[in-house]
Amino acid sequence: MNTPKKPEEARYPRPAWVPQNVSDEEDLCPDCFKVVGVQSRYKMVCLLGQSKEGMGVSELTKALGLRQPTITHHLQTLKSVKAVSSIQKGREQIYSLNREAHCFEECKIPY
Ligand SMILES: [Zn+2]
Repeated sequence: MNTPKKPEEARYPRPAWVPQNVSDEEDLCPDCFKVVGVQSRYKMVCLLGQSKEGMGVSELTKALGLRQPTITHHLQTLKSVKAVSSIQKGREQIYSLNREAHCFEECKIPY
């Protein structure tokens, strides 16, 4: 019998901080899953969490080695659950982590 190969490339190893009583990271609440369900998006959360001044799209593009449309898409998703906020600084939008957001305050996602 042949077990069909599952498409695993979109998934990544369970992050160490996912609570033990959660059998799968998909059991996280939907908002938080949006934040951490994609590894590069969660990396972005950690980068922004370490940055005091916030980061622009070009800076994030360089730091993560992703294409700009991908970065913009991730930022929009993070904004949709209020995990990041942005301010206009000159010609650039500067994004910073919204540390009071539900994901960080209540669900305790570390960054
Ligand atoms: Zn949550």
